[in-house]
Amino acid sequence: MEISFKSKRILVTGAGKGIGRELAKRFASLGAEVVAVSRSKDGLDSLSAEVKTIKSIAVDLADWDATRAAIQSAGPIDCLVNNAAHASLESFLDVKPESIDKSFAVNVKAVINVSQVVAEGMIKRKSGGSIVNISSQASQAALADHTVYCATKGALDMVSRVMALELGPHNIRVNCVNPTVVLTDMGRLGWSKPEKAGPMLAKIPLGRFAEVHEVVDAVVYLLSDKASMINGVTLPIDGGFLAT
Ligand code: NDP
Repeated sequence: MEISFKSKRILVTGAGKGIGRELAKRFASLGAEVVAVSRSKDGLDSLSAEVKTIKSIAVDLADWDATRAAIQSAGPIDCLVNNAAHASLESFLDVKPESIDKSFAVNVKAVINVSQVVAEGMIKRKSGGSIVNISSQASQAALADHTVYCATKGALDMVSRVMALELGPHNIRVNCVNPTVVLTDMGRLGWSKPEKAGPMLAKIPLGRFAEVHEVVDAVVYLLSDKASMINGVTLPIDGGFLAT
């Protein structure tokens, strides 16, 4: 299957490192003009140095007004990947209000904020478009010490479905991917210790964590015109974890 994003402008959030960075690089290699949005300027600068055509915008997505202004300044966008997220781990009894607010601000509110600006542009231009939100297996399975993260990803799945419902008539498709553990900085936070990794690996029928490129491949497909009738799905990339 040949996929090209030639003449498409794609905005990726959380593109400074991890999965978002590889998404930005892949889209650029497939001909897209990529706008990389992230918090740390360092990550964005090194990305733009690596791939000269990638434009970058540094903004804290937890700041609603600054984010809105930043996304408005990005110009017309054909495809969007809401990838940035915050994860903090604590047992249920230790969850603090600051942790709830910080995670929901990035993982849910910012997705709504960024998508509103991008979708308004698509609707005004009557261009249609495609949006992929990076959710998690944690949206559908209880993971110890992940109360807030699980809650944000469960919310994100439902936000995505309502977006699919309301934006579909404007020919804007909205889908989620729901990966299992990927050993990025975020993945290592929860799963690098053998006593954590072992029991998780035992629940994944394929017996391994996901690689970044396996998430990127699925996002590329869902974002592309090859998925032109796919709208409102939550696609596990989990080696069968959620099937068991
Ligand atoms: P990383 O922590 O490696 O990267 C996250 C990126 O998001 C960074 O570039 C970070 O910027 C950016 N970001 C975080 N908060 C903000 C903010 N407030 N404003 C702007 N940018 C921000 O995460 P992953 O690559 O692992 O995760 C990518 C997505 O995949 C997330 O949605 C995550 O929930 C999901 N996911 C990850 C899994 C895993 O095991 N890794 C499993 C399932 C889903 P900065 O460089 O400044 O920190």
